[in-house]
Amino acid sequence: MSDLQKNSSRPSAERCPLCAAANRCAIAAGEPAESCWCFSSPVSREALGRLPGEERMARCICPDCAGVTEGL
Ligand SMILES: [Zn+2]
Repeated sequence: MSDLQKNSSRPSAERCPLCAAANRCAIAAGEPAESCWCFSSPVSREALGRLPGEERMARCICPDCAGVTEGL
């Protein structure tokens, strides 16, 4: 297991770093990454650009902030 997976001191991985809503990330829920909504929906690059680098790697944003309105 990697340090990333063991580290529970981070702000909740299930929360969007932009608006703190549930991001519905499959990885945060312990499910395969391929089952995450972000695999089938385009994520707004503008939204990703608003994230600090460390958040971009550590947490998913929510579908709302990603600009996803379909298929959820
Ligand atoms: Zn959000």
